[in-house]
Amino acid sequence: AVSNADIAALIADVPDFPKPGVTFKDITPLLSSPEGFAATVAALAASAPSGIDVVCGMEARGFIFGAPVALALGAAFVPVRKPGKLPREVVETTYDLEYGTETLAVHADAITPGARVLIVDDVLATGGTVAATADLVRRLGGSLVSVSVVLELAFLGPRAVLAGHGIDAVTALV
Ligand code: 5GP
Repeated sequence: AVSNADIAALIADVPDFPKPGVTFKDITPLLSSPEGFAATVAALAASAPSGIDVVCGMEARGFIFGAPVALALGAAFVPVRKPGKLPREVVETTYDLEYGTETLAVHADAITPGARVLIVDDVLATGGTVAATADLVRRLGGSLVSVSVVLELAFLGPRAVLAGHGIDAVTALV
């Protein structure tokens, strides 16, 4: 069996990417391991509360994990995308990054009022991306039930930004 420690060992540290001083967590070795990838999807799905209607995954690595989790849960998958990608009416939200801003968009009809929503992403860092997605879910009337990530960079304090939301991390770095 693949343990959570095995999953953590399949995430590589890449120093000085995308810029000096930053250590990027590279999940591609995990994707290259069929056993590791399957165990990760199973762990994400197992941590989800029951009765999830919609899984939201954020471009681009949130798609990789969110789509198989949605299938495992029998839920809809809703892509949350960078601006200009979705072809129909969208709602958008803009949030601050360390340098500059980012915008995320979702189709306006992708979440019906009252839908029970799970957000899935690869890495939870500052929490800004999940907070922005939570804002989109709320504006469409969805009920954000929980957040599941593969790796939480707990030392960056994302839970302070996401207070009031349940968060499950397969692995975490303190
Ligand atoms: P946050 O908004 O929480 O600061 O950053 C999380 C978002 O940025 C996620 O969508 C994630 O994919 C990406 N991200 C930030 N840092 C890393 C990292 O070290 N590795 C990977 N794979 N993604 C990261």
